[in-house]
Amino acid sequence: RSGGEELLRVKGALMQFGGLRALNEVDLTVRRGTIHGLIGPNGSGKSTMLNVLTGIYVPTAGAIEFVGKSVVGLPPADIASAGIARTFQNVQLFGEMTALENVLVGLHHTFDSNLAEVAIKGPRWKREERAARARALGLLNFVGLGDLADEEARNLPYGKQRLLEIARALALDPMLLLLDEPAAGLTAPDIKELLAIIRKVRDHGITLILIEHHMDVVMSTCDTVSVLDFGQKIAEGLPAEIQSNEKVITAYLGG
Ligand code: ADP
Ligand code: MG
Repeated sequence: RSGGEELLRVKGALMQFGGLRALNEVDLTVRRGTIHGLIGPNGSGKSTMLNVLTGIYVPTAGAIEFVGKSVVGLPPADIASAGIARTFQNVQLFGEMTALENVLVGLHHTFDSNLAEVAIKGPRWKREERAARARALGLLNFVGLGDLADEEARNLPYGKQRLLEIARALALDPMLLLLDEPAAGLTAPDIKELLAIIRKVRDHGITLILIEHHMDVVMSTCDTVSVLDFGQKIAEGLPAEIQSNEKVITAYLGG
């Protein structure tokens, strides 16, 4: 898919850590309704890009516009509210909470219940709480975890934990979902399940940036691919173009 209008536009993103340019003047345009692959060797700046997009790091220089508005310098919570959700390279779940509770944590970001609010709202709080649980369960069903709602997150198999993270990120009702190596460490059947869910997310109108190592996953799933190497974008295009690009073969495939 070529996608619709621009949802995200990054111009000249520079992220400097001491003498290291983890991102070196990177431009990136992501179109609505697409799965945008972000690939590159280890240490090429992929996770840094997600950290910059979500406000964990403020870029040293450069512009980031999301739905036409600058998000540079906004705190992570505000960027999340603006519609950018993410998962992390390493699973970050609340292990002793159930799958359902983990998704509720994501939802409460929007419901924003605190004790004062409970006192003021009274019965309305209970109604909202019930609605939140129903929605959390809906999200678990969406990623195929409906039957595991009451399992503690730490007891779920690794592949299911990755899906739970996606459900929690979706609780924010994002326009853009950033996935940092969601397929890393998964078995082939788990990867297949994950990719089906990623496509389903896109088909619901959510745009995705997918960081991925496996070239075959990128090829079968992404609409567009950008390639980073030493913090610079060295190629961009359709998966088939990227696969045959000389620079990419040299840098990424270790040729
Ligand atoms: P990738 O996700 O592509 O493997 P990263 O974005 O994690 O790469 O890292 C890119 C480079 O930036 C690496 O050299 C890494 O060590 C460095 N880097 C990332 N975060 C920091 C940080 N907070 N402080 C210093 N260096 C960092
Ligand atoms: Mg990374």
